[in-house]
Amino acid sequence: MSAVDEKLAALAMKAHDESHIVPDQGKCATCEARPCIPACPAELWARNEETGEITVEHAGCLECGTCLIVCPLAAVAWRYPDGTFGVQFRYG
Ligand code: SF4
Repeated sequence: MSAVDEKLAALAMKAHDESHIVPDQGKCATCEARPCIPACPAELWARNEETGEITVEHAGCLECGTCLIVCPLAAVAWRYPDGTFGVQFRYG
């Protein structure tokens, strides 16, 4: 296990039922670059090859905001999870 994987394994996650990240499927359907997929450090983004839909598994989100920044079409509606939900970083 790499040092990064060890740090990620130490995180606590409390996922809300409702996703705090919502891709605009209409815009995503016109995007060929799809930088969200390789850019997410937690590898949460994917494209359903059958439907063409872009999916994001919000439960493992590190709240880094990378997907919001790299999207060339401003197709990502992103907010922090509601209070008490989301990632809990541990140090030391
Ligand atoms: Fe991935 Fe960061 Fe976007 Fe969360 S905020 S889905 S960890 S790129």
